Amino acid sequence: MDATNVKRRRRPSSPPPTAPPAPAVRSTSVAHQQPPTSDDDAALRVALASVVRPVLDFDREKVCSVTLSNLNVYACLTCGVLVQGRGPDSVAYAHALETGHPLYMHTTTTAAWMLPDGTPVPPALLADVAAVLRPRYAPADIAGIDAAAAEAPGVDLAGNAYLRGVVGLNNLSATDGINAVLLALAHVRPLRDFALDDDAVAAAARSPLASAFGAFVRKVWHGGNFKAHVSPHELVQVIAKLSRKRFRPGVPSDPLAFLVWFLNELARGIKLPKAQAKALFADARSRLDGELPAPAKLSRSLVDLLFRGKVTTRTEELEGGAAAVRGDWIPISVATVPFLFLALEVPNPPLYPSDKAAELAHQVSLAQLLAKYDGVTPTHIGARRRKYIIPQDGLPRFLVLHLDRSDAAGSGASGASGASVTAPPPPSAASAALPDTSANATVVNFPLDNLDMAPYLAPAAAVANSATTYALLAAITHEREAGQASGTYAVTIAPASKPGEYFRVLDLDVTPLKA
Ligand SMILES: [Zn+2]
Repeated sequence: MDATNVKRRRRPSSPPPTAPPAPAVRSTSVAHQQPPTSDDDAALRVALASVVRPVLDFDREKVCSVTLSNLNVYACLTCGVLVQGRGPDSVAYAHALETGHPLYMHTTTTAAWMLPDGTPVPPALLADVAAVLRPRYAPADIAGIDAAAAEAPGVDLAGNAYLRGVVGLNNLSATDGINAVLLALAHVRPLRDFALDDDAVAAAARSPLASAFGAFVRKVWHGGNFKAHVSPHELVQVIAKLSRKRFRPGVPSDPLAFLVWFLNELARGIKLPKAQAKALFADARSRLDGELPAPAKLSRSLVDLLFRGKVTTRTEELEGGAAAVRGDWIPISVATVPFLFLALEVPNPPLYPSDKAAELAHQVSLAQLLAKYDGVTPTHIGARRRKYIIPQDGLPRFLVLHLDRSDAAGSGASGASGASVTAPPPPSAASAALPDTSANATVVNFPLDNLDMAPYLAPAAAVANSATTYALLAAITHEREAGQASGTYAVTIAPASKPGEYFRVLDLDVTPLKA
């Protein structure tokens, strides 16, 4: 059995409440939900009082601390240790006899038992613990999650308030690039809503990656977490295994390379039921006013439906080769290929600027960089040149732009990269320059919520502006202090729950930004 597969097989007999009890009185209020009366109930009351919530860490891999098995693993709710089984020969039973710790929760089903006597505990009495171990969301919870997050903050055991969905993530040693991408993807609404739905993931997921991503997203959005941050430990383990250790703790990951790998792997791992795929596709098409030809074959991958765009490339060659002084450009080929991101080359600041201030203030607009895709501006590659344009049906629902700061001259100078995920709409305008301390210090100005991609669509496209504008959803930036060798990746999130507000997340640190 795959140790990393976290698909739920059984549901707890009672759903967890949508809101946890107030933190200051959490343990006592839970214990008094159903006042015990008899001797048995007195034992239960003592057991419930033994629960030590601050030591419970459910982000670790669910394996028995003694047998290392992932089957039938229980968490001791007094000391947090993971122990297998609950029968008289089991590790959990022995732990109960040895320590007197009385309560154990199954890490898959969240069913709780008193040991050594083996009495089941009514689920309602430990609902807040079960909800942290395995958060579950009813369809109504998912539909209203942004409104709920806007209304009431999550509160951890220490009384710290946090915005659901915008939580710090433990750095598992150089995993800041991976963390930034995972948190950004947890804000792509259709992907998030899919991931929050335990049953939908179980039905559509064909790989442990989709299951582990679902479990991760459900924790990030849970309002009753005991800590105001989440460890992506289990998900990163699956990633390391599936990527054959290309992306793993201890090795810095480039966010763009990771994003592309992750989306491709996820695309392979999710096949939506046909009705769900059709609904999503219809939703995406409804943004376009003009009638589009139905695709020959409806893509049933969630990733394709959300992120995959198309770009048409016209390649031309200079007559007489590169050495020719003058010649005509001869068309060589025209090809339309899918993309997951659009690459934009950020020019270096002038090498010998007239003054230092000019170098520091070197700025370009996103529109200048996007001109590469206007179908007219050529990109030169040796004796050839290419012109790019996005075909009529080529705009993805969520657009990823990569600001490539690597040195075009190939001198080997390290450059930073930034990837951003943007989404439609709403209209209004602003621009921002995110801090960047890379070798290439060119500042790229971009609109926060009114990026119109119409100029880069093939002319035949008869679409309204509303269908071609994107708003910033997340931006991943590389930041490096002077003298620092590698730097770190942070992600800035524009959560739907807080329109107009931005939050920068670097590992455990969450900082509200002024727009
Ligand atoms: Zn224990």
